[in-house]
Amino acid sequence: MHSIGIDIGGTKIAAGLVSPDGEVSQVKKVPSPAAEPDLMAETVVELIHNLQRENQVDTVGIAAAGFINSERNEILYSPNLQWRHEPLKTRIQQQVSVPVSLENDANAAAWAEFRFGSAKNADSMVMLTIGTGVGGAIIDSGRLIRGGFGIGGELGHIRLVKNGRQCGCGQRGCLEQYGSGTAFLKAARKLATSDGPAGRRLRELASENGVLTGAEVSQAITEGDVGALSLLRELGDYLGQGLASIVAVLDPEICVVGGGVSIAGEKLTEPIYFSYLNNLPARGYRPELSVVAAKLGNNAGLIGAADISRAESLQ
Ligand SMILES: [Zn+2]
Repeated sequence: MHSIGIDIGGTKIAAGLVSPDGEVSQVKKVPSPAAEPDLMAETVVELIHNLQRENQVDTVGIAAAGFINSERNEILYSPNLQWRHEPLKTRIQQQVSVPVSLENDANAAAWAEFRFGSAKNADSMVMLTIGTGVGGAIIDSGRLIRGGFGIGGELGHIRLVKNGRQCGCGQRGCLEQYGSGTAFLKAARKLATSDGPAGRRLRELASENGVLTGAEVSQAITEGDVGALSLLRELGDYLGQGLASIVAVLDPEICVVGGGVSIAGEKLTEPIYFSYLNNLPARGYRPELSVVAAKLGNNAGLIGAADISRAESLQ
């Protein structure tokens, strides 16, 4: 039997049909009405009804970017979407005939990697999602760790630098401000505008339309450009420092790295791994975790949300 997975992001909503072994089909993407909570709920219900019309569906899982309460029916706060104490699950459940569940998007993506992707042979994992921010999720002994109030696992807001860069969360020096795709692009643009030889290729790529884009930085990485790769090592260095602290608390077997920047593969996971080792407490006297890139790409959130809804309906 199939479940529907929905992933609500700041710019688009993705919906798809997910089989019990994580195969996804009939994926549809529509623009996200991020500023209008009412329209958001309506759009999600419409996507569900459309998929239900032609398919036998058992459950619906929704992944959303934001803090979700411990009852998992309400979004307490979302930085990129206009949700403040939004009873999203309740609103959608009222209009849908099968059980609906709600999950944080980073948790859902991690769950998908744990069940069907890069961590399917592990029992305990952490995931870092390197996108606009740094998303985090924890799975320990086969269970998602949501904390006492439902909002645990925000690994991007570990304090890395005292009195450091201002973060969107209101604090300073969070890992997210140094290890995100946004921070990476900012550093690349800075290098591209410098006179030094390390920025030469980035300067050439940027000159085509004036300002360097993420795609152009990706191209430089693919070409093996020295400047772009040094920035990637720097990014990995910050993330590895954060990971060493995470490991001190949680001792996971594997760290899965997802998000846009993770397409760099080993060029990113290796610097993270070596920085983690350099910062690891009691290094040499304990097992070391592996750092691997995520496998499921952009569909991870909806696959994980669907699988969580299925697992809950079986409990
Ligand atoms: Zn923060």
